[in-house]
Amino acid sequence: MMIMMVPEATESEIDRVVTTLDSTGTVHAKVVPGQDQVAIAAIGDVVAVREMGVEALSGVDRVIPLSRPYKLASSELSHHTPSVFDIAGRRISPATFCIIAGPCTVESRRQTLRVAQSVAPNAAMLRGGAFKPRTSPFSFRGLGRPALDILAEARELTGLPIVTELTDLQQAEAVAEVADVIQIGARNMQNYALLEVAGRLGKPVLLKRGLSCTLEELLMAADYILKEGNEHVILCERGIRTFETAMRFTLDLGAVPWLKLHTHLPVIVDPSHAAGDRRLVEALACGAAAVGADGIIVEVHEDPEEAMCDGPQQLHTRDFPRFAQRVLATAALNGRRAA
Ligand code: PEP
Ligand code: MN
Repeated sequence: MMIMMVPEATESEIDRVVTTLDSTGTVHAKVVPGQDQVAIAAIGDVVAVREMGVEALSGVDRVIPLSRPYKLASSELSHHTPSVFDIAGRRISPATFCIIAGPCTVESRRQTLRVAQSVAPNAAMLRGGAFKPRTSPFSFRGLGRPALDILAEARELTGLPIVTELTDLQQAEAVAEVADVIQIGARNMQNYALLEVAGRLGKPVLLKRGLSCTLEELLMAADYILKEGNEHVILCERGIRTFETAMRFTLDLGAVPWLKLHTHLPVIVDPSHAAGDRRLVEALACGAAAVGADGIIVEVHEDPEEAMCDGPQQLHTRDFPRFAQRVLATAALNGRRAA
């Protein structure tokens, strides 16, 4: 339910409504400032909210049901205003386009620092996995903690904020110490304990869509992070499982405009994991920019043929500047500048 306060409602009237809602223990109350009116989202036990008769409290204008299954992520909650925020000086907004680039995996200090330096002039952030969720337990699963030190050094060297994945509750603090953005991978989109912990680490979270998850499920997963008080969530479409097997996954570009209608959260696209083939990555990345994405996350390697993971889809560092310029030129058609 959304409790709309009258335009002249006082702080103490707003506090009183919040305290009344919180007193149930089953309702989550969130104050949403608006241009003319403050709204208070009451999420959880709808019956309890109805029974407490908040309409009668002083300063309340009216109570409107929140119609969608996702709540905090819903654009209903933000009065259809998109979220805007900065990550280490890089702006995520409808006027900017954020290119996150780097290797699939941190393989060595040399490899990571070289890629970081190559992408730095044309990228807004550096990606690189320290902990890799692999389909087979016998595949390379990342260097682990030593990779975090390498990523920290790469940030020192280039100034690029770091995006790296958290796969395991036990590594949460170590990852949060280095990451400017904590990535939750597709395979963990519905790992609710991990989402709640990620929501409490005080860092923005990049939430990737699960391989077989609907967009409503993605937004409900985002609610797990948002309800911990973390408002800086970025969604990522990275391709889904369909009957089509020609490409690694089927990139759902329609997800971008759909999400823009239904959530206030920023949306980026991962063309690399969707394509599984570097020859397709630029077309998909430009497609993402054309349909209104807020950015992309793309894999780049100096010598992809020798990469320990996802070699066929990683762009060559030498091709990256031209790639980035083309994607940014497409984003510019939507009124966006580089983040
Ligand atoms: C990744 O970005 O490194 C990754 C493993 O992607 P996904 O979770 O989308 O498969
Ligand atoms: Mn990868």
